Amino acid sequence: MKIRKKPRRIVNLGDGATLLYKTTKRKASAWYMGFLGGAMEDEKEGTAHFLEHMLFNGTNKRTCEDINKDEIEIASLNAYTGVYYTILESVRTNKLTNETLEFMTDILLNNKINEDKMENERKVIIEELNKTLDKYKINVGYHNLSQIFECSFNYPKILGTLEDIESINKNDLEEFKKKNYVKQNFILSVVTKMPVKKVIKLYKEIIEPKLFYANDYQPRKVYDIEPSKPESLVIVKNENLQQVSCMISLVYNKGIKDCENRNIFDYIRVLIGGQNSSLFTRLRKMGLIYSFGSCSFTEYNHKSVCSFDFKCLPEKIKQIIDVIGEEFKTLYENGMSQEFFEKEHKNQEYLNDELPSSYNMLRIAKGMILDYVELGYLPKKLNWKNEHKKITLNQINRYLKTILSRDNKMYVTYLGNVKDEDVYSLEETKSKLLF
Ligand SMILES: [Zn+2]
Repeated sequence: MKIRKKPRRIVNLGDGATLLYKTTKRKASAWYMGFLGGAMEDEKEGTAHFLEHMLFNGTNKRTCEDINKDEIEIASLNAYTGVYYTILESVRTNKLTNETLEFMTDILLNNKINEDKMENERKVIIEELNKTLDKYKINVGYHNLSQIFECSFNYPKILGTLEDIESINKNDLEEFKKKNYVKQNFILSVVTKMPVKKVIKLYKEIIEPKLFYANDYQPRKVYDIEPSKPESLVIVKNENLQQVSCMISLVYNKGIKDCENRNIFDYIRVLIGGQNSSLFTRLRKMGLIYSFGSCSFTEYNHKSVCSFDFKCLPEKIKQIIDVIGEEFKTLYENGMSQEFFEKEHKNQEYLNDELPSSYNMLRIAKGMILDYVELGYLPKKLNWKNEHKKITLNQINRYLKTILSRDNKMYVTYLGNVKDEDVYSLEETKSKLLF
């Protein structure tokens, strides 16, 4: 059977409830079910996340043990609290669709908040917080992100402060639920073979009757999620680290709505951060670094962030920045070589032929929620199969010039045993890396 490729779409389910839908050929469906209402709605920090933990503690119909059993047999469930949403995730064969949706609806909407169980979860959450804080002390990406964004994206913010976690009570959770777990905030994101009409029918039969319509509904606030802080260079001192982690992010004025071809990033990512890139090869040969972290892109409507990171000894930092500057200058002036382009083109073709895995289905379903929440629409990013065929070297090189332009904002983070004199100033770094 042949299924015509359709773009992703947003379906209005009535009363503010929303369906995000995308087809697949697979016999399994990926489901996300939840509410717009995450850490940003917390009055005490960590409330949304605490409530998410309580979802697995029993309903009127199922005990905690039943839930654990059904989780394995029916739904293979995961739950997430984001800055803007709380969602359940499941990928299951279509034969189990009805059971899966009934199960997800039950634990999401009928969960009971038991005070004894709350005390158990409180201990679990505090342990989660301590582990996360330890991890972030040595995570350069976390420090770099907080330099770029006004709005806090970071995980500890979702987990909450120790003080708040300790003070959250049953009433706080119930209030949060009443305010956020309402029909107007309901969101269902699915990647499935089933026609959209069938999904809507399932929603009407299984989920909608259980949803609560709030008469005093407060529309979601709009948060500034675009990179907006002034540029900066920050040294996070940690004397226990032998190597320095360095992350540099560039913010430029071209976003999803301005991009000519959505595959451009795949090529540039490999060009700058790939293990066979000329930059990395050179740094390795010179014995300056042993591993290049990564190069990544995050896009907003009319802005994007390009980040790359590496680890080195403190006394090598300036030398490395010099080499990166030389390589960037060549890229800025000459662009990607025809040879590199052709090689990468073959590689992309190979990647495109791979069948999407269930992991991919979940990634797509979750991506739709993020786009819907952060951008307000679903950009056509999933036509990548066709777009990749249309890409030209000229497009890539024009984009490269945009990223490496002197007009862009730069955010530099060093984490480790670094002295001020080990690094170039922000202005110096900019003049070396941007043109
Ligand atoms: Zn958790």
